[in-house]
Amino acid sequence: MSPTDDYRIALDEARRFADRFLSSLPERPVVPGSIPAAPPVPEGIGQAAAFEFLARHVEPFLSASPGPRYLGFVTGGATPEAVAADWISSAWDQNVSNHVGSIAASLEASTVKAFAQPFGLDDRAHGQFVSGATAANLVAMATARQWAQQEAGALPTVFAGAAHSSILKAMAITGIGRQRHVPVATLAGRTAVDPDALRIALAGHAGPKIVVASAGEVNTGDFDDLEKVADACREAGAWLHVDGAFGLFAALDPSLRHRVAGIARADSVTVDLHKWLNVPYDSAIAYTTRPDLQRQVFAASSAYLGDDPDPLHYTPENSRRFRALAAWMVLAVRGREGIAQWVAANCRQARAFAAGLRQLGLVVLNPDVPLNIVAFAPAAEGAAARDALLGAINASGAAFMTPTVLHGRPGIRAAFSNWSTTDADVARILETIAALPRA
Ligand SMILES: *Cc1c(COP(=O)(O)O)cnc(C)c1O
Repeated sequence: MSPTDDYRIALDEARRFADRFLSSLPERPVVPGSIPAAPPVPEGIGQAAAFEFLARHVEPFLSASPGPRYLGFVTGGATPEAVAADWISSAWDQNVSNHVGSIAASLEASTVKAFAQPFGLDDRAHGQFVSGATAANLVAMATARQWAQQEAGALPTVFAGAAHSSILKAMAITGIGRQRHVPVATLAGRTAVDPDALRIALAGHAGPKIVVASAGEVNTGDFDDLEKVADACREAGAWLHVDGAFGLFAALDPSLRHRVAGIARADSVTVDLHKWLNVPYDSAIAYTTRPDLQRQVFAASSAYLGDDPDPLHYTPENSRRFRALAAWMVLAVRGREGIAQWVAANCRQARAFAAGLRQLGLVVLNPDVPLNIVAFAPAAEGAAARDALLGAINASGAAFMTPTVLHGRPGIRAAFSNWSTTDADVARILETIAALPRA
């Protein structure tokens, strides 16, 4: 058989796998009842047997995380055109760099640019595709550290109201160190930073400063007031990084856009695409206004690599997957209005879910539901009651949610960020919860 025939057989089988899994999403248990350890790798069994092995030993134990009722963490699905484009990226197998004789890097650059405007960023924002918001936060923190070293010859201190854990990871990797994180008070009953407390904290500190603002805090979907935070940064001469992993999508919706007013004043911005853009893992964009500093950190100059503005000089990776293609495809197919419709629908679903929970006597811990996340708890306080309710929801197969602690109270998070979630899914989850034995 020719290699072409081999590809055809393998990809036809992949297509059958995809059809089977994707068509099971609406009805398969959202997470399996039990998950065994994966069996040892069956080496050298050939293609047909390997597919058969996967179908038997792996597929039944997958989560339905691309499906409509997986509400854990902040999890996007993958639209049909995004899955197709992702397959094509593998078939094309381009290493996205300017030196490899391909248009891929140019298409990536134009995709980064095409998203900047809908996200409310201006011409100062340069960006690259990276594997996720964690990697984007790493690029931002490394760039800001370089700025601090250059401006003040010292490591920066990082101020944040409710920083995502990946910020602390980035601080550790970049040598800033986790201990240089200064938590700033949040507004009463919220997870948004108190701008006055921020101003005071910055004024009390001598060295170079980074402020990490949240556009979409992961427990509640709350937003820092970016205009006020940017004012405080300007006063204190601080670098402003905005982690908008999922919340930056508020910029697409006219009724939510005010939440990210001031975003263009940020020195660096993180946005995940494998969450609300609903492209497959892994995909995010790191935007900064200082590609010159980024390059000082990430440049990989070498006689064989050349010196032009190549992505490999701006991010941790050298060889890079063509992950821009799926994002390009979604924007090409749906347009920003189409994406904005998911944002609006998911936020409406979150509000409806919160209202339904209240009717069932549960407590909504972020009562104003600022975006797409509902944090809630059983009437009985404490981790035991929370765990019992969360365990029962996840065991039902009708939904999957994840735990949190909000303002000291153990709770459950439900995050709506899937393009295929319908209002009927919300009703179904509420019916499931209503039917659970009450603690
Ligand atoms: C999800 C998330 C991250 C981390 O993103 P990954 O894509 O998992 O690397 C960082 N910040 C916020 C606010 C997030 O929601």
